[in-house]
Amino acid sequence: MLYANERSTALEAVEMACRLCIAVRTHLVSDESVAKKDKSPVTVADFGVQAVVTTHLLAAFPDIPVVGEEDASALRDPANRAILEKVLAHVEAVTPGLTDAAVLDAIDRGTHAGGGRGRHWALDPIDGTKGFLRADQYAVALALVEDGEVVLGILGCPNLPQEHRDPAGPRGCIFVATRGEGAFQRPLEPKGEAAIHVSEIDEPQHASFCESVESGHTQQDDSAKIAEQLGVTAPPVRMDSQCKYAAIARGDSSIYLRMPTRADYEERIWDHAAGWIVVKEAGGEVTDIHGKPLDFSLGRTLRANKGVVATNGRLHAEVLAAIRTVVG
Ligand code: AMP
Ligand code: MG
Repeated sequence: MLYANERSTALEAVEMACRLCIAVRTHLVSDESVAKKDKSPVTVADFGVQAVVTTHLLAAFPDIPVVGEEDASALRDPANRAILEKVLAHVEAVTPGLTDAAVLDAIDRGTHAGGGRGRHWALDPIDGTKGFLRADQYAVALALVEDGEVVLGILGCPNLPQEHRDPAGPRGCIFVATRGEGAFQRPLEPKGEAAIHVSEIDEPQHASFCESVESGHTQQDDSAKIAEQLGVTAPPVRMDSQCKYAAIARGDSSIYLRMPTRADYEERIWDHAAGWIVVKEAGGEVTDIHGKPLDFSLGRTLRANKGVVATNGRLHAEVLAAIRTVVG
């Protein structure tokens, strides 16, 4: 198997990250979030996951840099000492023996600029922080980008039901895809892996679509009009994080719309790289709202793209046509 070492190391890292998230979630109290400059909540788990994943990846692949969402500047502020203590304790529980300095340095190793040459990891330690705080959906998202192409992606979804049809059943799934080798779902526990595929729905009237919970992340009014144009009757499934890509990949939903809320917003590569390959390898299609392929070669953002559309493939052209009708 291509990328076998990268795949197994990245899976171990995401499994440790999921354990850390579950531990933090269990103890979550409100003082564990501090305001970032953009006021979005960032938690002990965000920092802890970036430390654990980066440390594990760099131990196995010291020459592959990381493009990560977080940096440790807030944690180095003495005013946040209490949060740092919690990060250190949670990291110690899954990756014992690191010094305080090693944890902070690992978090700060996520500053790579990305781009179209060589290899880098793209990491969103907790995608859907707001979902995490609400005890709803969130994901640890990790992808390997090689010469500007995503070749490996992993989504750890600790709170996602293992079976869409059994929402009260066991939760916690990991999705993994390698270029050309298909997409798979694994339960967090026990081990084992099964191939996943997108839905076979070819009439939009029978499709369900998903979108962000946060109206600041997607123009929900536009999606409603697009759904109406397509004849979709089911109400939108609103879900935080790249769990939406997982939902498309295993056929729970057939359309994921991310309609721009502002002309100047550039999607971040770590918000899409892992989800992109999981959907593609499950047989689906992902483009921007104009039908352009997502270009991961341009740095930390998808600056050549506007919004995102992921579908089961069969519905893609029809969805793009509906978008053209609604937003021009
Ligand atoms: P979601 O859970 O799908 O709503 O996506 C969460 C991600 O949305 C976060 O990781 C942010 O990086 C990203 N985000 C923040 N602001 C915006 C925006 N204005 N438009 C699109 N995505 C955004
Ligand atoms: Mg994110």
